[in-house]
Amino acid sequence: MSEVRVRFPPSPTGYLHIGGARTAIYNWLFAKKHGGKMILRIEDTDAERSTTESIDGIINGLTWLGVTWDEGPYFQSDHAAEHRAAANRLVAEGHAYKCFCTKEELDAKREVAIAAKTTYMYDRTCCRLTSDEITAREQAGTPYVIRIKIPDRQGALSFTDQVYGRIDRPYHDIEDFVIVRSNGMPLYLLSNVVDDIRDRITHVIRGQDGLVNTPKQILLYEALGAQVPVFAHMSLTLDPKKAKISKRSHGEVVTVQFYREHGFIPWALVNFLVLLGWAPGDDREILTPEELIAAFSLEGLSKANAVFNYNKDDLKFFTDPKAINLNAHYLRTMPVEELAALVKPELQTAGLWTAAYEDDRRAWFLTTLALIRDRFHTLLDFAVLGRAYFADDYPVDPTAIQKNIAKHEKIAEWLGLLASRFADLAEFTKETTEQATRELAAELEIKPGLLINGTRTVVTGQVAGPGLFDILVTIGRDRVVDRLRRTAEIVGR
Ligand code: GLU
Repeated sequence: MSEVRVRFPPSPTGYLHIGGARTAIYNWLFAKKHGGKMILRIEDTDAERSTTESIDGIINGLTWLGVTWDEGPYFQSDHAAEHRAAANRLVAEGHAYKCFCTKEELDAKREVAIAAKTTYMYDRTCCRLTSDEITAREQAGTPYVIRIKIPDRQGALSFTDQVYGRIDRPYHDIEDFVIVRSNGMPLYLLSNVVDDIRDRITHVIRGQDGLVNTPKQILLYEALGAQVPVFAHMSLTLDPKKAKISKRSHGEVVTVQFYREHGFIPWALVNFLVLLGWAPGDDREILTPEELIAAFSLEGLSKANAVFNYNKDDLKFFTDPKAINLNAHYLRTMPVEELAALVKPELQTAGLWTAAYEDDRRAWFLTTLALIRDRFHTLLDFAVLGRAYFADDYPVDPTAIQKNIAKHEKIAEWLGLLASRFADLAEFTKETTEQATRELAAELEIKPGLLINGTRTVVTGQVAGPGLFDILVTIGRDRVVDRLRRTAEIVGR
């Protein structure tokens, strides 16, 4: 097989949404798997709807995901003259023709068809014009579109899609479709094929909604004398109500950017999106980039549309629980140095960052991340749920207050006593703090759990978390003692 060349050709009319990202990821995996090339092509021929903001969003989104391309971005609009030239060549070679029919004429014919309850299809009036008739119209400056001339063949155009199998489309069902508008603008179907030919694309891997265009595009390849690529149409990404996901109807909650802003680790999102509609053939659900590239094949693509569960009303769990769990898995298991690089911008945004975390407090910073990540789901949790580790002004979860503080009248007094015990310890370690806590509980004739839960609430603001004595050592004696002494103030906040 010659070099594999695939493409991701988004129309830049909105942000990169998770359906588009999934298409890009499959193409990228396929290229990597076969040592081929991935081409990024911006299909920006719809000048009115294309925006530079969208182009930036697509490029930033792909870059953030780690989906790389080998060529491009190419811009479709740079090649409009070439698309027109291809159409002219098709006319010259008899594969296409100029159609001078007016809109009114076509509308009238369409209405006749509708009245007769038949399917309207262009009746090829202009395909039958003599060369004199054509010349006369041209000389009169009559506007025209260019239509492809569907070959007069019996039977069906057949091709084998790598996912959907053999597809037959009877020739007589295919209309002589327009490839250039009367204003000279080439249509998308033509531009897409001409670009794929120039970019030497060997495999077209795209959404199943492209399948309706494929027979027409194959006819274009044939007419242009080019090798037809392999087609693989992938199932669509549907919302929980089974409607096709689009950025316009679903808003920002389906964009890649939203995941980025909500604390996702790029690879966790890639891993999740790949599994929406593809399976490795075994039960693995967590795959490294290398494993995924090795396992990827078009045969693993599912025909069934993928349902993407998300919940825009609950921002903590705004997406599929599977996605959140994958993110939590990566966050909890990735090398802590890598995690530190991802947490840094979160802390910066929250005003919790200090350069010391990359200098003399580096070791503390890494130990702290390793300790607190075990219950976290997204990168946002570090600055929110983990705020008490990085700042002294942290909110206290009302549930924690209710459970661990409010029920116990004397808690502030007890925690004040505990603070003094901690202050007097020769050494402040996991062992000594635990011993001091248990001794005080015994003296007060209360359960150690009361002191432990109360301390957790006051010192971290959270109802749950890592083992308390690990927390105390990490937060440090001075801060712990100070916070316990200010119990009334902290929980009253
Ligand atoms: N620009 C088209 C889109 O965004 C690409 C379709 C294709 O892959 O051929 O849907």
